[in-house]
Amino acid sequence: AVFERIEQVEDKIRAYITLTREQALELARQVDRARLAGEALPPLAGIPVAVKDNICTKRVRTTCASKMLYNYIPPYDATVMKHLNQARTVMAGKTNMDEFAMGSSCENSAFFTTCNPWDTTRVPGGSSGGSAAAVAAGEAILGLGSDTGGSIRQPASFCGVVGMKPTYGAVSRYGLVAYASSLDQIGPLTRDVTDCAMLLNVICGHDPLDSTSAPFAVPDYTSFLTGDIKGVKIGVPREYLGEGIDPAVREVIQKAIETYAGLGAVVEETTLPHTEYALPAYYLIAPAEASSNLARYDGVRYGYRAAEAEDLVDMFMRTRSEGFGSEVKRRIMLGTYALSAGYYDAYYNQALKVRTLIKADFDRAFEEFDLLLGPTAPVTAFKRGEKVDDPLQMYMVDICTLAINLAGIPAISIPAGMVNKLPVGLQLIGRPFGEGDILRAAYAFE
Ligand code: GLN
Repeated sequence: AVFERIEQVEDKIRAYITLTREQALELARQVDRARLAGEALPPLAGIPVAVKDNICTKRVRTTCASKMLYNYIPPYDATVMKHLNQARTVMAGKTNMDEFAMGSSCENSAFFTTCNPWDTTRVPGGSSGGSAAAVAAGEAILGLGSDTGGSIRQPASFCGVVGMKPTYGAVSRYGLVAYASSLDQIGPLTRDVTDCAMLLNVICGHDPLDSTSAPFAVPDYTSFLTGDIKGVKIGVPREYLGEGIDPAVREVIQKAIETYAGLGAVVEETTLPHTEYALPAYYLIAPAEASSNLARYDGVRYGYRAAEAEDLVDMFMRTRSEGFGSEVKRRIMLGTYALSAGYYDAYYNQALKVRTLIKADFDRAFEEFDLLLGPTAPVTAFKRGEKVDDPLQMYMVDICTLAINLAGIPAISIPAGMVNKLPVGLQLIGRPFGEGDILRAAYAFE
């Protein structure tokens, strides 16, 4: 049914870079046979999953939506893929994204732009826009994305689906092509909160192959879906409803606050005073890490290599000039500058100190509150082409999500309402490893 749906709508949505129809149908048949034979199957057996194209899949092309990796076929599976395979889910294909996950609209893909299923003249958000659009359009039942500064939650908000960034270290990054290693996390994009909890059950857990993976006991996340949130203390940071937030979006969030109060939660205003510094700190730290991570694309090891070169250094230069898109080059230049001798202390080190202050803001808020609430994005899905020529405008779309990655804490975006026939996402933020509490509150709202 999912592949029939793909046939009907994919030429309008363009969510997938690669479809793996034959493998998927074969795996689905195997699950069917096992079921008929009376075998006990895991809960998600046979369910089609859309996987972002920066997650390595054995023998299936993994491009990061970059010319640099247009022909890269990984010889191994990312740890999350191993978990998905054990759970006997079925990969439908690899989804479009902003090149190397740098962007907020999917327009930085080297191949094509994905359209928002609610209005195809608009962007699906990004960078995990392909997975979000696929789930929203019924071209997959479950999706995986990655979130470095909002790339799961913001497309979830724009496409009217559920998207969760887990605590840093909760999901293995082994086999996730690195953008900014201290911020990247893989997470679910799903139609509802129950699916999100079920997918989280599959992908979370300690992995010795990722040195930043946390050893923790993974609970059954579906056990939190009780509908009861009486007495839960929810803080609303005033910075998240202030300037820069579209008044219509603010109104939807105000209504959500009333809904929570009606459900018996205690909702009060609070403050995260360093919020305004999250964007500048992020745009020093993320590009700095990216400039280092992307040094490996030299035309020697894998991927694209420039055809004509005079010598080795010329080959490196041509390969990188031709292989990377303009946003990726902008980040490499920003990052290299921020890390260079003489500027390291003024920019990179300073940004790290600000990051600590941002984390301390959250620690303080969580002494008083169980959860924090606000919009996921300041706007609804914008028109394709509207922000492509203005990087700063594009960066601003992530003002509500970036700080969460800097602090390493978990957050979800759930559909909260509509403005002019476009979905608005509500963001719930929790304590480290507080995914269960977030899911409890998200489920009660749904
Ligand atoms: N839009 C932000 C960026 O370009 C976040 C991207 C992400 O989370 N991968 O860096």
